[in-house]
Amino acid sequence: MKRNILLNPGPATTTDAVKMAQVVPDICPREKEFGEVMRSVASDILKVVHADPSKFSAVLFCGSGTLNIDVCVNSLVPRNKKILIINNGSYSSRAADIARAYSLDLIELSLPIDEPIDTRKVEQVMGEHEDIAVVYTTHQETGTGILNPIREIGDVAHRRGAIFACDTTSTLAMLPLDMERDNLDFSFASAQKGLQAMTGLSFIIGRTSIIEASADYPRRSYYCNLFLQYDYFKKFGEMQFTPPVQTIYAAREGLREYFAEGEQAKWQRHAKTMEAIHDGFAALGFREAIRRENQSGLVAAVRYPDDANWDFDAVHDYCYERGFTIYPGKMQSKHTFRLCSLGAIDERDIKEFFTVFRESLIAINVKIPVTYNE
Ligand SMILES: *Cc1c(COP(=O)(O)O)cnc(C)c1O
Repeated sequence: MKRNILLNPGPATTTDAVKMAQVVPDICPREKEFGEVMRSVASDILKVVHADPSKFSAVLFCGSGTLNIDVCVNSLVPRNKKILIINNGSYSSRAADIARAYSLDLIELSLPIDEPIDTRKVEQVMGEHEDIAVVYTTHQETGTGILNPIREIGDVAHRRGAIFACDTTSTLAMLPLDMERDNLDFSFASAQKGLQAMTGLSFIIGRTSIIEASADYPRRSYYCNLFLQYDYFKKFGEMQFTPPVQTIYAAREGLREYFAEGEQAKWQRHAKTMEAIHDGFAALGFREAIRRENQSGLVAAVRYPDDANWDFDAVHDYCYERGFTIYPGKMQSKHTFRLCSLGAIDERDIKEFFTVFRESLIAINVKIPVTYNE
């Protein structure tokens, strides 16, 4: 099969074994055999984040990663309580939009998008409002590659009696995570990112006691309610509605490969891939938008050079035709594009990419090394 190198922030490059795992005999997902597949996937997901199965549950959903944001935001806020969304990027903005769509009592703490969250600001807001039940943020803001100090934020939330829910879509199964050590009550991701599997399966890991308590919270959605999905699976071993059958087989293979590679080794591979990305850009004179110490190590946001001939679309198309996908940035104030180190790729792929990327610059007459006016 043709191997494309996806340097976009997910879906990621997958192995052939993951692709082929989807080719299975037809099966009705209400069969016990398929319930067992889902049960094993859910229990392996708990292992990825070192969650004690006597305290935590993994709840599977059919949908893209944003579905998890929707479910957590709409399902976890008790009556007459508030949700605090700490927003320093586009994914927490999305969560705030969702909270508004459900008319929740929202406190949105908007912080600069080019630096990590300042925990003192969180502490201050928590001190001003007694009735915050849920503190929510994003681990890695994938638009910039900023990594937020979740362990500290979770600690503030817990000291003030709130639960902590965190979007870990772009870090889970890449950066080592541990639910209890990292003060996470809820985290979530979808199969096409860190697990290197297919789009369509999303999952939430959460404290079982809180999920069960949420049975009595206002039911703001029918399809996207955390308790209903949890409870149905517990009672019947099935998703409430049709699951993404073949995608779940791919996720099972992705998890098998995850454990075979190992948590530390996988993180080292992503880190080395990112080193190769940094080196490749530095050699061509490109500048990154986010200071190195604030980056996750999974996304590099790179500034457009000040060269009249620079043309992101032309560079994209040149690379795309040769099997490499690069991605636009998400910083409104600055023109950036992104390269990400997730997926089944390594530093050799990045070296090959930079050969093609350099050719693309030459093809459109961009001066090398590239220059900036300031
Ligand atoms: C990819 C991603 C999502 C999910 O996006 P979908 O397009 O709905 O799959 C959510 N949060 C973060 C931080 C992400 O990187």
